[in-house]
Order: sequence, then C-alpha cells, then structure tokens
Amino acid sequence: MGSIVLFGPPGAGKGTQAQRIMEHTGLPQVSTGDMLRAAVKAGTAVGLEAKSYMDRGALVPDDVILALIRDRIKEADASNGVMFDGFPRTIPQAEALSELTEITHVLAIEVPDERIVERICGRSTCGHCGAVYHDTFNPVPSEGCSCGHYQEKRRADDNESTVLSRLSAYHEQTAPLANWYESRDLFYRVNGDRGIDEITQDLLAVLN
Ligand code: ADP
Ligand code: ADP
Repeated sequence: MGSIVLFGPPGAGKGTQAQRIMEHTGLPQVSTGDMLRAAVKAGTAVGLEAKSYMDRGALVPDDVILALIRDRIKEADASNGVMFDGFPRTIPQAEALSELTEITHVLAIEVPDERIVERICGRSTCGHCGAVYHDTFNPVPSEGCSCGHYQEKRRADDNESTVLSRLSAYHEQTAPLANWYESRDLFYRVNGDRGIDEITQDLLAVLN
C-alpha cells in the first residue's frame, strides 16, 4: 500500500471527498489544516507559531508542517498509508514527503477561482463528527447532522478577504507542485466544478 494526496485550491472539496473515499480505501485522512487548528485550540508552541500565518491566509513554514507530518505518520493507523488532505503545499514539502512514504496517486480536484469564494464563505462543519456542509450546495438536513449531535462550526479564516490571500498563496506556492508530480506520472486531474457524487465516482475510478 501507499499514500494518496488530495490536491487542489482551498474550497475545492478535498475534505468532502476525503471523507467519502476513506470509506473505500480505509486510509485515514491526514489534514494539516485540521492538525494546525487543533494545535491553535490547545495553545501548543506549534499552534502559537502557526496562528498568525493562518489568520492572514499565508502558508505556515515548511519545518513546522513537516514536524507534524513526521509524528503523524508514525502512528499505528498510518502503517498502510494515509490520505493527505492539504499537504504537501510547497515543493520542499513534496520533496521531504517523498523521503518519508510512497505516494501512489495525487488526485487534483480542479475548480475555477470564481467558484472558490462562494464555496468557502458558505462552509460549515459539524463540530461533533466533522461532516462538511455548505449553506447552498450541501445544506445540513432539516433533521440535523446524520451523527445526531449537530454543532455548527465556522472557521475564522473562511471570510472573503482571507480567502483571496489563501488563493494567491495557492497559485504562487502550491500550484507549481502539479508539474512536479506530473513529471513523476502520479498526477490525476478531476473536474471539481460538478456535483459532489460525480466527483467521488471519478476519484474512485482513478483509484481502482
Ligand atoms: P477543501 O477541503 O478543499 O477546503 P471542502 O471539502 O471543505 O474543501 O469544501 C468547501 C465547501 O464547498 C464546503 O462548504 C463544501 O460543502 C462545499 N463543496 C464541496 N464540494 C462541492 C461541490 N462539488 N459542489 C459544490 N460545493 C461543494
Ligand atoms: P483550505 O484547504 O480550506 O485552504 P486548510 O484547512 O487546508 O484550508 O488550511 C488552513 C490554513 O492552514 C492554511 O491557510 C495555512 O495557513 C495552513 N496550512 C494547512 N496546511 C498547510 C501546509 N501543508 N503548509 C503550509 N500551511 C498549511
């Protein structure tokens, strides 16, 4: 087995698809964004350093991210590989990752910039189970989240001005990784400007 990378701009649907693909591959989702938010909430040294970058929509330094990843992939549930969500985001991160674990697929969810703000600004998650919702495109069912304990959570950085900074960080620092992985024959593009189910079907077809 090896690991999978979910690649794409903020709001592309990486987290949404990771939860669905997880049911098929059994690989745990490893989201550096979620790990950083947990560190900020816990007030750890990593959290204190990361917060100012996250608040302004800039990337957190590579050494901080790589230290988190090195620890995470030593855990027992990662022994058959993981599904990286939002990592790697720079070429140095990808280079370091290639020394740590084998990557079998980089699945790129492609969404045009003009869709990103509406996706991010309508996002909410369930604080109890982590399910991802959207005010318009994937609303919380009227009876509440399927986990039965819906707690609405919204991210402080999911506002229009921070999204625009995150999008330019994506174009400047992360998008060049597409060529890096393409030259290694690991890169698969999926049109992410469609319904959630259609995208899942395409991703699973690539993995099978
Ligand atoms: P990412 O992890 O890439 O930042 P998310 O999975 O959190 O993206 O999705 C961002 C927002 O867009 C969420 O509110 C989610 O419900 C919504 N969303 C995800 N996929 C789609 C889609 N195919 N069409 C419309 N909205 C979507
Ligand atoms: P999204 O996919 O919606 O942009 P994430 O939850 O992946 O959001 O990331 C939130 C923030 O955490 C980013 O804006 C950035 O500051 C930081 N971050 C997450 N992953 C990384 C990474 N691999 N490298 C650098 N910064 C990261």
